[in-house]
Amino acid sequence: MSEGRGLISLSADAVVVGAGIVGLAVAYYLARRGLSVVVFDKGYVGGGSSTRNAGRYRVHFGNRENTEFAIRAIRKLESLSNELGWNGIFERPGYLWLTRRKEVLESYERLNEQLWKPLGIPVQILTTDELKDRFPYINTKGIIGAVFGPQDGAFHHDYIIMGYYTKALDLGVKIFEFSEVKNVGIESGRVVSVSSSGVFARTRNVVFAAGAWTGELMRELLGIDLPIRPVRREIGITEPVRPLINTYIIDAETNLYIGQTMRGEILGSIELEGGEGFLPYGNTLSWLTAWAREAVKLIPSLRNIRVMRIWSGYYEMTPDHSHIMGRLDTWPEGVYVLSGFSGHGFMFGPYAAELLVKYMLDGVVDPLMKPFLPDRFITGNLIKELLVI
Ligand SMILES: Cc1cc2nc3c(=O)[nH]c(=O)nc-3n(C[C@H](O)[C@H](O)[C@H](O)COP(=O)(O)OP(=O)(O)OC[C@H]3O[C@@H](n4cnc5c(N)ncnc54)[C@H](O)[C@@H]3O)c2cc1C
Repeated sequence: MSEGRGLISLSADAVVVGAGIVGLAVAYYLARRGLSVVVFDKGYVGGGSSTRNAGRYRVHFGNRENTEFAIRAIRKLESLSNELGWNGIFERPGYLWLTRRKEVLESYERLNEQLWKPLGIPVQILTTDELKDRFPYINTKGIIGAVFGPQDGAFHHDYIIMGYYTKALDLGVKIFEFSEVKNVGIESGRVVSVSSSGVFARTRNVVFAAGAWTGELMRELLGIDLPIRPVRREIGITEPVRPLINTYIIDAETNLYIGQTMRGEILGSIELEGGEGFLPYGNTLSWLTAWAREAVKLIPSLRNIRVMRIWSGYYEMTPDHSHIMGRLDTWPEGVYVLSGFSGHGFMFGPYAAELLVKYMLDGVVDPLMKPFLPDRFITGNLIKELLVI
């Protein structure tokens, strides 16, 4: 590494753009295989969506590709406290999908019979009486049934981010914060460098793991068109109260989701129309009032609780609500992507990172990775994922 007139110049086997869960995990697994790795982030470690999320995970998705991926990804996620040496504060209170229409409940029943049961992750279909019995704090007016997935759970993102960050540093990964990638050098059809205004890295490999910024960045720097677009999502947390909500509730009709943390805070959101683009981080009164109104309607005992903090982050959305991993032969040699998780990137990120590294270093396209290659936007072989929260 050399420094001259304020510019740091160095060489690395690989450069990772983005220090969120995805970029940090990729950097760590590359370094564990003996590569020298540099990470650039235009802000601070974890400052993107990776510390702005709800901290929930599920194995239940609306199609085979994502469900099979999720089963393996959740197994990986739940093993991270051991692997990283930081307690990820995992718990499994399950997911509870409330339904207000017969056809919606029937579609869950079909998914259960045709997909979830055969894959060993059956859900419990609850009548309203069973719902009242097991979750007495829920106002069941208008609800005709529910689906309970006991395999689904929660984690604390901060500790997993810190785990990857510290492990990566231990292996010699160099992480440059406040260092926005401005240029990717290409010579004879392959990557030769990646640079920000303060750091120049000679390298033959670059992984774009820049979350919601990935689409825009790859287009600007390389002319590569990937359909990853940002959508701002708002979220909030209340003061801590005694244990009340013993699962993670999703109202499929009002788009409300709500749960309780181990500390007792009520955490959740309501998804409203709009939010497309890089809207400023912040919150809207219409979101706050809608969230409060629907939360109290569903769980009347929340009536006098105080909201402590609200914030927002970007979903990195793709047209089929599924992530993109790997590369295309038409791209410059050495360019890879891992992004577009469409609202479930924290739970998928660690496992996806491991598979991407296997692909980069061993040339192995794992069968679980195959459906998520970027070529699906050329062949039109899109994934049909409807269970997005
Ligand atoms: C409100 C909300 C709730 C969510 N809930 C959940 C949930 O319960 N469970 C779940 O699994 N997922 C959830 N998600 C999604 C999850 O947070 C994301 O999918 C995941 O964090 C994506 O990780 P990432 O590393 O790809 O992106 P990010 O964490 O956004 O990291 C990308 C990084 O790239 C950096 N970057 C951008 N451009 C450049 C550049 N030019 N040069 C250098 N660096 C750059 C950014 O600064 C950023 O730090 C939620 C998201 C939101 C917003």
